[in-house]
Amino acid sequence: MLCVVDERPGDGEDRFRDPRVSLYDMAAEDIYVVCPRCGQRAIDSPRPVAGRPVASWPRRLVCTGCAYAASWSPGEGSRWGGPVDPFFRLPLWLRAQCCGGRTLWAFHRRHLDLLRGYVGARLRERGAESGGMTLVARLPHWLKAADNRDELLRAIARLHASID
Ligand SMILES: [Zn+2]
Repeated sequence: MLCVVDERPGDGEDRFRDPRVSLYDMAAEDIYVVCPRCGQRAIDSPRPVAGRPVASWPRRLVCTGCAYAASWSPGEGSRWGGPVDPFFRLPLWLRAQCCGGRTLWAFHRRHLDLLRGYVGARLRERGAESGGMTLVARLPHWLKAADNRDELLRAIARLHASID
């Protein structure tokens, strides 16, 4: 399915195709969080276990700023959705207030790149409607609204700058 967002002339990155990844897939990489001790950027890294889903891989949190470290094991449970790390429940580093008090958030650079591609696109293609809901299919309406595009792209650029 093709969704035409608006009719303005394009300028390059016009078309976005849903890569059909889920938020769980995104958690297979390092997640940037706010260090609970020093407030700088800490990294929540997965410890992959063959044959098991991402949400049940052990994880390790390390802050290079102050050497804070912590571990998470699957028995502790995880909570998904919102600007909080699902495992350690710390605020995500990539978080921005925009669009009237909404919070834009991402786990890491690839997640942010996906949001930038989606928000900036003038044509949005959904993949085949099969399997579970993709991350893109679950995005809230305010992230999809053409009226919010410029503000969202500015917020995303600020977040990119915070990890470059
Ligand atoms: Zn720290």
